[in-house]
Amino acid sequence: MARTCPECGWIWPKPKGPCPVCGSDAAPELDLTEAGTAPAGDRRAKMPWHLKLLVASLAVYLGWRAFQGIEWLIHHI
Ligand SMILES: [Zn+2]
Repeated sequence: MARTCPECGWIWPKPKGPCPVCGSDAAPELDLTEAGTAPAGDRRAKMPWHLKLLVASLAVYLGWRAFQGIEWLIHHI
């Protein structure tokens, strides 16, 4: 989420300091949780969605292979 200056509407490029356009010190608060500066403990618990998808599809695939293996055994005993 971009931060904008409350005085002139300039999109704030810096995390800290006064506005480079109008010099206003009324910098809007940066959302720390979105900027990736949250405590390490919080970040560790978060799993990226594509990794979840990968694990889920792998589980489905392995489950399917296991099912096929059991089926093969039943037909060949
Ligand atoms: Zn400004």
